[in-house]
Amino acid sequence: MENTNIEWADHTFNPWVGCTKVSDGCKYCYAENMMSKRFKKVQWGPGGTRIRTKTWGEPLRWNKQEWAECTHCGWRGHEFIVYCPSCGDNSLQPTRARVFCASLADVFEDKPDQRMEMNNWRRNLIELIHITPNLDWLLLTKRPENILGWIPNKRMTGYTLSNINFGVSVEDQEQANERVPLLVELKTMWEFTGMLFLSCEPLLGMIDLSRWLTQIGWVIVGGESGPNARPAKIEWVRGIRDQCQAAEVPFLFKQWGEYSPIRATPIGFPFEPQRVGKKAAGRVLDGQIWNQFPIFRIGENHV
Ligand code: SF4
Repeated sequence: MENTNIEWADHTFNPWVGCTKVSDGCKYCYAENMMSKRFKKVQWGPGGTRIRTKTWGEPLRWNKQEWAECTHCGWRGHEFIVYCPSCGDNSLQPTRARVFCASLADVFEDKPDQRMEMNNWRRNLIELIHITPNLDWLLLTKRPENILGWIPNKRMTGYTLSNINFGVSVEDQEQANERVPLLVELKTMWEFTGMLFLSCEPLLGMIDLSRWLTQIGWVIVGGESGPNARPAKIEWVRGIRDQCQAAEVPFLFKQWGEYSPIRATPIGFPFEPQRVGKKAAGRVLDGQIWNQFPIFRIGENHV
């Protein structure tokens, strides 16, 4: 899928489709709603079959494109232009495209009845990442316990894979306590030179991330969208933003989701989020859009 509408990536690549729910953040899984319930392309859960996509050639094409970013307004694209199509400024500079992998699956799902087949797909994915050094790959998972076993180290393949960045998705403190330490272990237990990131979406509670932030390069936060969305409270989002600011970690607030945290509340009553729809709720927090990105190392140690 090109021109992804995920705010924090330029492309989305799905090596396969299908997954099994693992925690509360999966309850109203967007991918399941779309690919399983709506389009009936795959069956979700342990009994379903993961289906390999036919889009494996896309990253090779993206790898050949030159990307530019406007230093004035943040616009990104691969058109050969002098002036930014968004703000008209001429401060475009070369950059690298970011690829989110995968939005319709979890690359580190262990599915015993398809294990060999999916291991082959994972090997193919690593080869693809190796031969697309101009792309910054972002692999997001809810199963960080499987990363170490499944990603070959440099000694095994000769691949440096410095264009690979791992993230975990954490929706509450319980999942953060479980998943973030496993992610952080990658820095010490594996010859890993990329960035580690967190996606707190859908945010379902207050999370204290402060003990890990020295190891984390980027934090993305978002409220839930969809018909059954659960509200994200403003103090939860502020809490993570403030921790990131204190630790000087880039913070990106993607969306409030279906609920706006702001409404006219009689004095003396607590703020209660109100369902207004994703578009109306927007992504402004305390009067500003938080769109901070990490600096990916351009061309350094790649391949
Ligand atoms: S891990 Fe992601 S893709 Fe898999 S069920 Fe949970 S939310 Fe859906």
